[in-house]
Amino acid sequence: MNVSGHQFLEDVLRQLDEAAEILELDDSIREFLRAPKRTVILSIPVRMDDGSIKVFTGYRVQHNNARGPFKGGIRYHPSVDLDEVTALAILMTWKTAVVDIPFGGAKGGVKCNPKEMSRSELERLTRRYTAALFDVIGPHIDIPAPDVYTDEQIMAWIMDTYSQLKGEPTPEVVTGKPISVGGSECRKEATAYGVSVCVREAAREYGLELKGASIAIQGYGNVGFNAAKILHDWGAKIVAVSDSKGGIINRDGLNPLKVMEHKKRTGSVINYEDAENIANEELLTLDIDFLIPAAIEGQITGKNADKIRAKVIVEGANGPTTPEADRILQERDVKVVPDILANAGGVTVSYFEWVQNVQKFRWERDEILMRLDKRMVKSFKDTLEYSKRYETGMRMGALLLAVKRVAEAVESLGIWP
Ligand code: GLU
Repeated sequence: MNVSGHQFLEDVLRQLDEAAEILELDDSIREFLRAPKRTVILSIPVRMDDGSIKVFTGYRVQHNNARGPFKGGIRYHPSVDLDEVTALAILMTWKTAVVDIPFGGAKGGVKCNPKEMSRSELERLTRRYTAALFDVIGPHIDIPAPDVYTDEQIMAWIMDTYSQLKGEPTPEVVTGKPISVGGSECRKEATAYGVSVCVREAAREYGLELKGASIAIQGYGNVGFNAAKILHDWGAKIVAVSDSKGGIINRDGLNPLKVMEHKKRTGSVINYEDAENIANEELLTLDIDFLIPAAIEGQITGKNADKIRAKVIVEGANGPTTPEADRILQERDVKVVPDILANAGGVTVSYFEWVQNVQKFRWERDEILMRLDKRMVKSFKDTLEYSKRYETGMRMGALLLAVKRVAEAVESLGIWP
């Protein structure tokens, strides 16, 4: 059961208050950081394939740009609402600060069900949404990217629409594009690569062996699937995976590529020949080394946190653990590598993509992976250092690090006019 957007936003703001308290931030800075700088709400009329017109609601929330242009993905999902997008925008501000890239935080969303829409309907929706945002996005203003149920094709339509309106090719207005139009090597698997680095570093920190470690992954989209593939390549055992229809388990380990072939053929991971079906809820409570929630927010809650038996949770999704669950996990000494660190590999390679576009120069795959790996390791260490210094879990450690960096930027710039 997901939490509501309203609850999600309340939780994100409460966490900010806690961090501000610990850092002894001035009340005015805290007030400043709570409120997004700009919120855009749009009605997006789209001609559907049957000739009818449907009006969708879209959002872009630009939370903070003190450290650089707004940055963050766009999601297409039936549960999108203003509070959810706002919470996710705030998390982006913290995320770009944790990995110390020169961007702020934003998020976009359209309330729709892309699984029930054709490609051409999605194209018209995307182009109309982009046209409506033309004045508030831009290569040095706000740079969108993929998120839940948006992919590189959708990013190409955003680039094309913006470029047509601008009158010049502008690849640097959006990241996560196909490589043919200025996308970066490794962007697609970047979030998963970052998640995998966090699993590797957590194994080292907590004295676990990565080779043969048992891992369960909730969600088999871009993040879940690629993390399964990378961690399998690194010698870990992927024992269970799931998607929105249900999960599968094989204690001897699954072959991620074969599971993906099955999903492509049948529409889901369930009923895979070399595994048994399990419920999503069951996957979360398996006795394993690492649990990677890589679907959507609000999955580990007060209701199931006391049943979690994983040693370490590495959050591929944004906001998968509620604060109530977080407290329970901390009491039970389940380690959590938080979303704003664990899934920051995506926005990090988005930054590399943007730099390549701005410089009109392409980097090679090895260089990107090397830079990404280094930055993730550094951010992991910084976070650990903060959590040790302030005697908190890694979630608060990452948040303290981020809020401190953003607050410093806000203070340096001051308020004008
Ligand atoms: N949607 C991704 C995230 O939540 C990527 C954002 C980006 O690359 O700008 O981090």
